[in-house]
Amino acid sequence: MSFLSTQIRQHIDSISKNEPYPFFTYDLDGLAEHLQGLTSSVSDAGIKLWYAVKANPLSSIIKTIDKSGFNFDVASSGELKQVLKQGIDPNRVLNTGPAKSKRQINEFINLGVRTFVAESLNQVTWLNEEAAAQEVELDILLRVQLRWPEGEKNSLGGDSLTPFGLGCEQWQALNIADHSQLNFTGLHIFQWGNMLSTEKLADLWSQMVAPLQQLATDLGFELKTLDLGGGLGIPYTEEDKQLHWPELIEALSLIKKNAGVEQLWMELGRYAVGEYGYYANPVVEQKQNYGVDQLIMAGGINHILRPAVTSQDFPALLLRDSNAPSKSFNVHGPLCTALDSLGEHTFASDINENDWLVFNQCGAYGFTESMPYFLCHELAAEYVIENNQTHCIRPAQPAQSYLY
Ligand SMILES: *Cc1c(COP(=O)(O)O)cnc(C)c1O
Repeated sequence: MSFLSTQIRQHIDSISKNEPYPFFTYDLDGLAEHLQGLTSSVSDAGIKLWYAVKANPLSSIIKTIDKSGFNFDVASSGELKQVLKQGIDPNRVLNTGPAKSKRQINEFINLGVRTFVAESLNQVTWLNEEAAAQEVELDILLRVQLRWPEGEKNSLGGDSLTPFGLGCEQWQALNIADHSQLNFTGLHIFQWGNMLSTEKLADLWSQMVAPLQQLATDLGFELKTLDLGGGLGIPYTEEDKQLHWPELIEALSLIKKNAGVEQLWMELGRYAVGEYGYYANPVVEQKQNYGVDQLIMAGGINHILRPAVTSQDFPALLLRDSNAPSKSFNVHGPLCTALDSLGEHTFASDINENDWLVFNQCGAYGFTESMPYFLCHELAAEYVIENNQTHCIRPAQPAQSYLY
């Protein structure tokens, strides 16, 4: 498997000739083709796809995803407004997220959103109150956090507590008859990340059907929609496995059948866009230190934080061809903290201050997941490749543009 095609490499190379700072490039052509492959097989199966906007909220990414027929899952006012700004109908927007204040609920309903994942008893109350005030009805999915007793077969995160949703026991306190403006249509569950095995995912999903059906029965509503969230992984090393979409669809269809629901929803972030983004980063220098070869880069976790929070590096390549023998380098960003490591990678030994590295699989959880202000370096630029042409969407911005 190669993470960087010759064609993308050429585009990145030509941008780098005129761009002094680190930049992201998103391959919208590749993305459109990939999404086409995802959406073409799902509608017959009764599976509805949502894009989790937090993975990458860039305007041109959202527009490409819109064209493919995905709907949009947003978790903040900022994400909602960015989606609406691209001309997307609020009827195609779903709101998930643990922090829905009364103010945010008011704003979302006001802007036309009608589908919500409720994550607490307060959220249900506030959604009902606000819907009554604005004289609308809302579709509600309850977010469930499952747990298995210690020692039992358990792959859903066991007894680790998160703020996402409530346990089945906690939801028992809900009286759905008290909420005249709300149609309780389904349940939402999502407690895993970056999974690369269809078998494991199918196993997780099938363990959830019985407790979820039981909860809907207990609360007295018909389970029409089952929303399984995201968590589909992409490879970050050459050796990683890859998910096979037709197999996943097959597994999902089986879950749908067993759960007896009308619709099965998936909210894809990483799996939708992760493989279509590249982060190009100038080498500042190579140096030797205590017998180790180090590379100091212009950009680091200020632009791609993920390695520091997951201990998983983005796969990297030298942009230029070189015949020099390769060796291993510790790659560091520009921040004055040892956390700013981009991993250990093998490159041609003649790599120098005129070179660029390209980090792959950076389409999701890159630009907006990072910490760009720390140490006042430039914000990374963002380019897209569309119809085989490159365009700059966001120029690199100096610290003066955001410091007060
Ligand atoms: C982040 C998130 C997703 C997307 O997760 P991926 O692992 O990127 O697919 C989906 N749903 C919700 C509610 C999320 O918070």
